[in-house]
Amino acid sequence: MVDSYAVIKAMKDYAEKENVPIMLDDGINYLVKYINKNNVKKVLEIGTAIGYSAILMALANEEVEVTSIERDEKRYLEAVKNVKKAGLEKRVNLIYNDAFNVVLKDKYDLIFIDAAKAQNTKFFEMFEKNLNSNGTIITDNLSFHGLVNKKEEEIPSRNLRALIKKIKNYITFLKTNKNYETIFLELGDGLAVSRRKK
Ligand code: SAM
Repeated sequence: MVDSYAVIKAMKDYAEKENVPIMLDDGINYLVKYINKNNVKKVLEIGTAIGYSAILMALANEEVEVTSIERDEKRYLEAVKNVKKAGLEKRVNLIYNDAFNVVLKDKYDLIFIDAAKAQNTKFFEMFEKNLNSNGTIITDNLSFHGLVNKKEEEIPSRNLRALIKKIKNYITFLKTNKNYETIFLELGDGLAVSRRKK
């Protein structure tokens, strides 16, 4: 019998020790509730890291299948170990590659974007063809540790200012995208929930 709680606790401890960014508690709790409430069966995640959110989404209920893409080898290998420890090899499919090189034929009820923040628009445009007609794309880190709401002069470095600008552009892209209804939630590090319009 797998002790899922112990596996998750160990992943959280590892993430903290090794500085691996994983979802904050209220963000992942929202995702799990969203999956159960909206009868989500197939999830595509861009940005596995060590498998923390992929495993928690798969644990939402026994019908959920998660495909998740990670480009960092060390993190991918750690995720493979964690999925095995959680006994979820049959329902969590991990892909080791840059998401921009991955071509998927399947359709998903939910696409969760949690990878390079400057590339959100590109991920969205690339993978929306894999979204079911009534599916949802959820994106994390739209508040980026509170920096998105700060004045430009309050952001300490030029690189960070460029990143924040890209996140703001993505927010505008979502707000003006007529094919989706997007709500922005101040949960975790800021979530956008973009439901495809019928
Ligand atoms: N979703 C994970 C969780 O909450 O457990 C956290 C993901 S972490 C915030 C973002 C991950 O995306 C990093 O491990 C990074 O290597 C990966 N990543 C960034 N850009 C990527 C890309 N183009 N293709 C695949 N993975 C990418």
